[in-house]
Amino acid sequence: MHELSIAQGIAEIVEHHLPPGDRRRVRVVRLTVGEMAGVVADSLEFCFNAITAGTHLEGTVLEIAHVHVAATCRECGTAFAVQDSLFRCPDCGSVNVALTAGQELQVNEIELVDEAEEDP
Ligand SMILES: [Zn+2]
Repeated sequence: MHELSIAQGIAEIVEHHLPPGDRRRVRVVRLTVGEMAGVVADSLEFCFNAITAGTHLEGTVLEIAHVHVAATCRECGTAFAVQDSLFRCPDCGSVNVALTAGQELQVNEIELVDEAEEDP
């Protein structure tokens, strides 16, 4: 399953960014996922929960920000939002367009639980 390997990648990125010896829990991981990244958000969350169960990442919430597909016309330079997979410039009708957004899949932010908060 595609989302499973992505979920594993996210867990690895989170582990990698945690300060060594920091035993605080991760509260939220914020992701940006483009509409054309080929990722089903529900499935990604399910896989992430499954692989982090029983680890110190258990209970981490994935917050997914979806990015719409956008493109720029190579003929006239018009930037436009792509709807219904219609890669055609709304200004001049050219199909010679460059994708500028919608394929990203990245971890933007990792939020940790404050120690004071966890141990009152
Ligand atoms: Zn154009």
